[in-house]
Amino acid sequence: MLIRADNLAKHYPVTTGFFGNKVAATVRAVDGVSFTIERGETLALVGESGCGKSTTGRLLTRLVEPTAGTVRFDNIEMSELGREELRATRRRMQLVFQDAGSSFNPRMTVGALIAEPMHLAGAPAAACKARVQELLPLVGLSAEHAERYPHEFSGGQRQRIGIARALALRPDFVVCDEPVSALDVSVQAQVINLLTRLQREFGLTYLFISHDLRVVRHVADRVAVMYLGRIVEIADKATLYKSPQHPYTKALLSAVPAHRPGAVRTRTEVVGEVASARNVPSGCRYHPRCPYAMEICKTQDPELYDLGGSHRSACHLVNATH
Ligand code: ADP
Ligand code: MG
Repeated sequence: MLIRADNLAKHYPVTTGFFGNKVAATVRAVDGVSFTIERGETLALVGESGCGKSTTGRLLTRLVEPTAGTVRFDNIEMSELGREELRATRRRMQLVFQDAGSSFNPRMTVGALIAEPMHLAGAPAAACKARVQELLPLVGLSAEHAERYPHEFSGGQRQRIGIARALALRPDFVVCDEPVSALDVSVQAQVINLLTRLQREFGLTYLFISHDLRVVRHVADRVAVMYLGRIVEIADKATLYKSPQHPYTKALLSAVPAHRPGAVRTRTEVVGEVASARNVPSGCRYHPRCPYAMEICKTQDPELYDLGGSHRSACHLVNATH
């Protein structure tokens, strides 16, 4: 096991008042999630925008400090690390973002951009240059591209540059945060194939974040479905797509885009707006949108019930009928 998250939470205070000194509310961006990721595995994390996927990725890589809970990376408890050790450990974890291109300094050459993490880690210039020449062909670009500037490249090529940069320090773990969401469908498959090939070649471990279950179908080994800061269902890929149990997973998978505003109907009423992480519903947080909600769902927060194998689902109905 490479990663183990236990009861991980990130709450952001929402402040008001002239000095911003009154806490008016709390955004429960991530609200108690536990999962593991095996070495060489891809865990997909899927859910609607705002459910806490990126925050989870940032918590794992310690770009944000958790409000509660722990992350173990390669059996190291991250919060116990001193500054130097933390820095060294964080080099083993990298991120690939949705639109890597937009964060690139336009005045830096592609070579300098890819080498930047090595440079910051204190690698000598010659070693940086050699590594760039090695990385460019690995991501399907050519060695001459090192002298060019990011604006000369297409979206898909810029994503390849971002991947090369993420791999520069030979990480063990990569958080791919919506890595193809900004790309044309035809280019998405190419970038996904590249990520899969690199994973095999270097034994990489991925957390692959997407708002779209279809995108992760080809890359995931296991899938975790997130709703308002919680994992509501987690299973190996075959099980999740073939026999989803949580009503939210089913809605995400259904051919009809059930989560278009106004498109969801319960037995009695049209479901209102998407709940917000600022105002998490009581009981099961999905109950106001769930067509199967029972009395118990309004008051009792379901735990992730074990359905056998590695399949778990946080639903009272599933637990009662299983
Ligand atoms: P996702 O990646 O699934 O779209 P995020 O993790 O980005 O979701 O955000 C989860 C929730 O936390 C959202 O409601 C978002 O507005 C809120 N949030 C994220 N970062 C911050 C922050 N730095 N301060 C306050 N709220 C935040
Ligand atoms: Mg996000």
